[in-house]
Amino acid sequence: MKTDELREKYLTFFESKGCVRRPSDVLVPRWDPTVLFTPAGMNQFKDHFLGKCKLDFTRATTCQKCLRTGDIENVGRTPFHHTFFEMLGNFSFGDYFKREAILWAWEFLTDKNWLNLDPDRLSVTVYEDDTDAYGIWHDEIKLPSSRVRRMGENDNFWPANAPSRGPDGVCGPCSEIFYHDTPKEEVEIWNLVFTQFNRVGDPPENLRSLPSKNIDTGMGLERTASVLQGVDSNFHIDILRPLVETAAEICGLKYDPASENGRRMRRVADHVRACVFAIHENVYPGPNKEKYVIKRLLRRAVLDGHQVGVREPFLYQMVPVVADLMRGPYPEFQQTEERVAQVIRREESNFLSTIDAGLERIERIVREMQADGRVMVSGVEAADMYTTHGFPPELFESLAAENNLTFDWEGFHREMQQHGLDSGGGQRLELFHSSPLDALKKAMHGTTFLGYETTEAECKVVGLIAQDQLCEEIDEVGHQQPVIVVLAKTPFYAESGGQVGDVGQLIGSGFLFDVIDTRKEGEFHLHLGHLKEGTLALGAMVVARVDARRRQGIRRAHSATHLLHKALQENLGEHAQQQGSKVDRDWLRFDFTNPQAVERDQLTKIEDNVNSYVTLAEPIRWSTLPLAAARDAGAMMLFGEKYPDEVRMVEMGDISKELCGGTHLNNTGEVGLFRIVGEESVSAGTRRITALTGPAALADMHQHETVLGQVATLLKAPTDSLPHRVETLLKDVRELKKQLAAVPTKGETTSEELLSAAFDVGGTKVVVAEIPKAQPPAMRQYIDHLRQKSGPVAVMLGSAVNGKVLLVAGLSRELTKGGLSAVDWIGPAAELVGGRGGGRPDMAQAGGKDSSKLAAALEQGKATIRGLLG
Ligand code: ATP
Ligand code: MG
Repeated sequence: MKTDELREKYLTFFESKGCVRRPSDVLVPRWDPTVLFTPAGMNQFKDHFLGKCKLDFTRATTCQKCLRTGDIENVGRTPFHHTFFEMLGNFSFGDYFKREAILWAWEFLTDKNWLNLDPDRLSVTVYEDDTDAYGIWHDEIKLPSSRVRRMGENDNFWPANAPSRGPDGVCGPCSEIFYHDTPKEEVEIWNLVFTQFNRVGDPPENLRSLPSKNIDTGMGLERTASVLQGVDSNFHIDILRPLVETAAEICGLKYDPASENGRRMRRVADHVRACVFAIHENVYPGPNKEKYVIKRLLRRAVLDGHQVGVREPFLYQMVPVVADLMRGPYPEFQQTEERVAQVIRREESNFLSTIDAGLERIERIVREMQADGRVMVSGVEAADMYTTHGFPPELFESLAAENNLTFDWEGFHREMQQHGLDSGGGQRLELFHSSPLDALKKAMHGTTFLGYETTEAECKVVGLIAQDQLCEEIDEVGHQQPVIVVLAKTPFYAESGGQVGDVGQLIGSGFLFDVIDTRKEGEFHLHLGHLKEGTLALGAMVVARVDARRRQGIRRAHSATHLLHKALQENLGEHAQQQGSKVDRDWLRFDFTNPQAVERDQLTKIEDNVNSYVTLAEPIRWSTLPLAAARDAGAMMLFGEKYPDEVRMVEMGDISKELCGGTHLNNTGEVGLFRIVGEESVSAGTRRITALTGPAALADMHQHETVLGQVATLLKAPTDSLPHRVETLLKDVRELKKQLAAVPTKGETTSEELLSAAFDVGGTKVVVAEIPKAQPPAMRQYIDHLRQKSGPVAVMLGSAVNGKVLLVAGLSRELTKGGLSAVDWIGPAAELVGGRGGGRPDMAQAGGKDSSKLAAALEQGKATIRGLLG
């Protein structure tokens, strides 16, 4: 059975059991601080399991894109582990339970109409205390007791070891289903988790039965496909083997599964596939968190290629193969294939440029360590390898392990932290962390947002939180920490989608509350701020008043952001997709994909383009519609963004259609004016434009004009001739600087001083002196001066600059006429400093390396001239 068919069969089967087929969650849930990547199907239903949200359905089934970093080292080594894989799941939120979950799993696996697996090849495990599960497998399904193994809480409890070690909270036993290829070889294909307890404190008697019990199951798509296709490894199923073989082909190898290179090719295939899924969702290789994982996977794959002799980027060539193999369930890859390939190629080139130097260095380190008898790679060395050669520590670790060396992770993290560079995921929060809002969440769907229509409304207080605790009232004026007010309805926009939260006031009889920020938790808007007067109590009615002028500025900036997005795609190409944005009062920042800096004249065009959309004064309209309808309407959507079933589509005439929950203008003309004030790089392949709208754009223009006016006044020139004026001025300054360098300045030796120190040899004035730090042009200038000032004169000047000696000698015309030559004079002195003289009879120059001999050389000059004149 083809993998695509299996995926579809599973979902259809559980639909027939009343489960609602839901889309996969994104692979990188950026709003969820507890995980970097989605590790299992249940994660998108966390709140459903806890009854934290109102349920539109109580049975669901999905095929979830998963990535498990914990399995990276297993990849290629075991036949059944990937980093990226798909998990087929069925879920019950207080609906069906253990019996149905087990019976249906069995039916799906063994029934002729479904997978038709041989029951004799299946075995299961249950938690040792779960007599219910044992009973169902053994008595109802009639599995012999030899094939129902009872295991401890380490293997068959979720979370593992929860009863004795915690954490407190929902948990439960599980039952795993194994397939046996031979009686000895087995693979776990499906795990059924029965979340039926709430753990409270330490044992004994710490597992309380949950009133509403849940089912969470996960079946590995690739593992089950390998069973159905009768192949010995997940990597040999229809949607993976061609990728492994392509890897081998590009590397110039024949794929040999049993060889070391076979293992490398499987790893390359796995890592490329994982990276294609992540980069498709706009998660690019980078220094931190999920971005770092992608970087590390790509570099590991580059290293595998390098070790079989590849020296050029090659992974990017596999992108179309991934897209093709996954085309059925993920047709959207066709749209991003090129961008994904570009990103991968760039990362490959980057690493290839340092990999040789890095590997050499690692070899050297290993040799040195072996010579010194050291067995642990030091954290300092590893940190340096990462920062200078881009070698992820995990790669270093595995190369070290090949040489039987261990790795000092603690030292590595310490070193990286000292440099503020730690690449780790940071603190992990509990999967089911609790919040003071939990009680509220059970009672209400969320806050109703009124802010699309109004900035002021009468609303009821339904929640008050101070110091992380729900409370009945707040009366302490001047609380240090902001307190939180939750309203049933509100005109306050809560920070999301890049748009900042609103500020304003909540006013009621006898109290005044200043809102300094509005944030979101789930569907609730949290008004953060300080009580200024009176007492605020639960149930009170307030007039919620948003700072409307600020909000208007935010609307201008947000609508302009959509226009900019469109203009970027028009001018740079379709690849210029949004990566992130921040929208504030008449200020916006927009990050987008582009391989290089945007040129000045392109920026001008983009700015003009946006302003032309503004002058078109197109109406802005919004509507809510099903996601599929918005897609059909051609709305711009971002991959990796989690959209609800009903989406809000914002249309600006024929210019732009985007899914967006932000607050917008009524007409593009209201933007007034749009000005780009910055363009910079955020990370490889991502650029950032900063821009202003409305009054802020105008103020920026005025400020430029003022400065320009001031410059024009100073230069006494009309503004349009300023560039020319400044150019001329700069030229003049350069010229003057040159001249100035040749003239002695105040505080230095003057010609007069030199002349006063002259001595006389047969009527000729002789000056021999050191001029500290002087350069030859200055020394020649002195000589010219002295020659102009007096009758027959012989001057020799010396200086030491940067350890070198410079000598210049000059004779006046009277002396050269008599046959004397400055070249002859300077010769012996030059020899003393280790140099040679040269020049003309009236002016000679010499340079030497031995500056300690300067004084002696000048003495030699005096002696020589005495001889020459005598
Ligand atoms: P294992 O012990 O084999 O690593 P697991 O206990 O981590 O598996 P679960 O967390 O129970 O697995 O996940 C549910 C199912 O997802 C598994 O039964 C398996 O079929 C599949 N699965 C888990 N991890 C991977 C992986 N790294 N690659 C492919 N499939 C996996
Ligand atoms: Mg595992």
